Amino acid sequence: MADYDVIICGAGSGGGFLAGEIAPHASVLLLDAGPHIGGAAQPGVGSDERRRFSTQINLGHYLPDSLESNRGRAFFAYPMYMTVANPIQATVQREARVVGGGSFINVGAWLRPRLVDWDGFVEATEVDGWTKELFEPHFQKAEQIFHVHRDPREVWNKASVLYESIALGMGIPVFENASNRFHCIYCGHRLDAGMPCKYDALMSTTVTQIPKAIEHGAVLHDNATVQRIDIENHRATGVTYVRNGEAITARANKLVVASAGAIGTPALLSSSGVNHVNDNVGRHLRAHPGIPMDVLLPGDDWNTDRGYQWNCFHFLMGNGEPQDTLIFASAGFPAVTPWVASAVGTYGRSYKDLMRKFPQRAGAFLFNLKPNVKGRVVGGIEGPVIQYYAADSSGLLEPKMLGELAAGARQVWDIYRQMGAIAAFPNPNDPASVFHQSLTLFVVTSGALHPQSTCRAGRSRETSVVDTNCMSHDIENLMCCDASVIPDHISSNPNALIMAIASRASDFVITEILGKSLPPAGGTS
Ligand SMILES: Cc1cc2nc3c(=O)[nH]c(=O)nc-3n(C[C@H](O)[C@H](O)[C@H](O)COP(=O)(O)OP(=O)(O)OC[C@H]3O[C@@H](n4cnc5c(N)ncnc54)[C@H](O)[C@@H]3O)c2cc1C
Repeated sequence: MADYDVIICGAGSGGGFLAGEIAPHASVLLLDAGPHIGGAAQPGVGSDERRRFSTQINLGHYLPDSLESNRGRAFFAYPMYMTVANPIQATVQREARVVGGGSFINVGAWLRPRLVDWDGFVEATEVDGWTKELFEPHFQKAEQIFHVHRDPREVWNKASVLYESIALGMGIPVFENASNRFHCIYCGHRLDAGMPCKYDALMSTTVTQIPKAIEHGAVLHDNATVQRIDIENHRATGVTYVRNGEAITARANKLVVASAGAIGTPALLSSSGVNHVNDNVGRHLRAHPGIPMDVLLPGDDWNTDRGYQWNCFHFLMGNGEPQDTLIFASAGFPAVTPWVASAVGTYGRSYKDLMRKFPQRAGAFLFNLKPNVKGRVVGGIEGPVIQYYAADSSGLLEPKMLGELAAGARQVWDIYRQMGAIAAFPNPNDPASVFHQSLTLFVVTSGALHPQSTCRAGRSRETSVVDTNCMSHDIENLMCCDASVIPDHISSNPNALIMAIASRASDFVITEILGKSLPPAGGTS
């Protein structure tokens, strides 16, 4: 049986980052259920392998492997129950299933949590040491590795520039968006979030930390689905995974890390029996339900057709204070623009041509940050089921979410109206019953974006699954390192925080578990 110091289950944002930091100090086995699409990183160009893969999965990227399967070429498709009024109807929650995980398919918006979030963590679980100050060096390290930067105005689209100035004129504080897209050529391809960037412009763990881990001797096994963490006498000793139909057991002498994501990690812990010793496994699911908003502008020189840029963001403002809705401008997903989505697949030349044909199109994406919803992941890795009741027994979104998303959409429309917009979808001027129904339908059919907190960190096992260092309260040598450990919902997209958590966790692993010294401040391993 092969043995390693550390086995990491899931090579996404959290697991991939951690692997890159600890591989210089230990023998590491990195396992991921999805394929590894390799080749040397070439930001703005892409490796042949990634170009081919991204183009091919575009052709059917939402098709599952078979009628019975809950997974497809590069994703898991988990059933998620979202409406109390319709308890038997499930929507599909898609999660990345590819080496690099969510970091390989996301939009690349890079935001840090707000101050209120750190207070929220303490309120939720009394977690120690999760403060803005203590996480600062970890954000900085991640931002250096992932080339996080703000784009100069010259490459903003015209709609974003005008949106920003009008919003500022209305007294809405607007911020330039930072991203981890480097040498992005604004090809239009990124208009479909959920698609790996084939030009390597998205700085994912696929092109940064995972190659670094491999360079330092880590063994990566892709298409390797971890079935369970092996536990003896309350101590994690290794894992059993299936690769090419063969069940393989590997031993971990020092640490097993569950980093299979906010749905995959509680499922893996449940398959390993940890749910029987800690009742918090899979509970406390938080998320950011969101809606895209499309508008039509007069004229055709807005250049919103050349890519999914999200140049700036603001919070929904009410009574002079930011509320719990985050708004990115100036483009929404094409999926809600019926005349685009129905006409052509979101890839390739025909797609780009079509986008060029509708240059009047702009929009925004709205995330509701702290709805009154706490969900749950139930079941093991073969069939986890998610409950996240965004809509209540009235059939509409729960009141806080509905009120905030409606107000957000009205605020976006007010800004676009001053830009001369002639139409919006969803349309805040529709009768309330229609408008509220459109918001509800979008949320309950599209899943819950940014799942987090299903194995949350906290002071005691009464409220949480892992401690401040992401180590299990109950099982020795077991760590969780991904979105699942976030103690409560945050006011930003989660990738930055997950990377910072992994950076902090890697310091703990290097010093406390491997007994080694950290590299000098400011350096990476
Ligand atoms: C379409 C989309 C757009 C997004 N846009 C942004 C954005 O712009 N900015 C931002 O900050 N965030 C964004 N996010 C969210 C962000 O990408 C995720 O929150 C983050 O990547 C999650 O990291 P993670 O480590 O928790 O899980 P993941 O990165 O999902 O990693 C989990 C990994 O575990 C693997 N896995 C699962 N189960 C098993 C198993 N049993 N055995 C082995 N491997 C397993 C999976 O294949 C996957 O690679 C987006 C997400 C999506 C889906």
